[in-house]
Amino acid sequence: MSIRLAGRLALVTGAGSGIGREVCRVLSREGANIVAADQNIKTAQETIASLEGAEHIALHINVEDRISVKAALDVIKQFSKPPTIIVNSAGIYRKNILTEVDDNTFNDVININLKGTFLVMQTAVKAMIEGNVTKNSSIINISSLAATHRDVGLSIYSASKAGVIAMTKCASLEFGHLGIRINAVLPGFIETPMTAHISDESREMLIKQIPLQGLGQPEDVAEVIAFLASDKSSYINGASIEISGGI
Ligand code: NAP
Repeated sequence: MSIRLAGRLALVTGAGSGIGREVCRVLSREGANIVAADQNIKTAQETIASLEGAEHIALHINVEDRISVKAALDVIKQFSKPPTIIVNSAGIYRKNILTEVDDNTFNDVININLKGTFLVMQTAVKAMIEGNVTKNSSIINISSLAATHRDVGLSIYSASKAGVIAMTKCASLEFGHLGIRINAVLPGFIETPMTAHISDESREMLIKQIPLQGLGQPEDVAEVIAFLASDKSSYINGASIEISGGI
């Protein structure tokens, strides 16, 4: 068995549910210590309780709030060097045709999915530079296949996730020389609480369009993220990797 991430500290946002929770499990299996951060501290604590080993902690974070993001990194600083693996999984999904989208929904989607990724990246990179731990660091942002594929009702969500790809690509040019790689993953349809509301009929129709003939599981995404976090992907920077069954 290989322990690819021994001695590394990973900050995972959205860690109380779905993909983020599974990322915590897979990264810890690979030897990383985990900071599970979520706006729901109770579910983040449940994630930590499900992991083996004692070197993990749960933290509250609201990724759209600069003060909250800074506070989370400051808490980590009190007992450790800054994390060298950052996974931005916190996100929300809203579906409505453009003419029905109100300002609050627009702001929520952009502030959590796009600004949240920005704030966590910015704060974490500054902490890494300050703590002199940039070498072999890896940031993985969760975008979506919706960023590159059209779907009715997804104008705002798709825009937020396309923004994540653009931000990832540009930021990857800025810190590569320090040893920080930044990549994005684009999940297709993954079975998590976010997609639990979709009807059986819609699922059947969707599965017919997926060459691998099944919906994705959180583990399918988490394993790719573990690879991107590890030195096994040491020459991948600024990439956007689809995890969609080939849809
Ligand atoms: P999920 O099960 O709903 O998990 C998202 C987590 O993020 C939840 O714990 C949520 O808390 C938390 N969160 C929401 N807003 C937050 C904030 N402001 N600050 C901190 N945490 C916050 O969703 P998922 O399916 O795992 O999705 C994870 C990521 O993958 C998202 O970025 C999503 O857009 C992306 N993605 C998912 C799929 C899919 O098919 N599932 C496909 C493509 C991309 P609450 O539960 O309290 O809201």
